[in-house]
Amino acid sequence: MKSDLFMVLSSLKDPKRLDVLPTNRSEKELQIGSDNFYMKRIGENKYRLYSKNMVLLEVDSEYIVPCPECGKLMEQIALPTDCFSLGVYMCMNCRGTAKK
Ligand SMILES: [Zn+2]
Repeated sequence: MKSDLFMVLSSLKDPKRLDVLPTNRSEKELQIGSDNFYMKRIGENKYRLYSKNMVLLEVDSEYIVPCPECGKLMEQIALPTDCFSLGVYMCMNCRGTAKK
């Protein structure tokens, strides 16, 4: 079974650029871990990014997030709903592949 949760690490060079890693930790474990972000699969090729620290929406709502399946960069399809959930990202590449 595919994992629905992912560890998310920000790049040292560019904090907006995120690395996504599969994990078998639970959501609770990710929430108490030391990393600031984590990501959750919410649908077919759709993922919601979460931050544990408050994020100011205007300044910090867009990140560079690679797809956990194919590694291509995803598009933000929904804006953050509050200071902790940072919007929804979708992989257009995987979505295209699934359609064929
Ligand atoms: Zn993909």
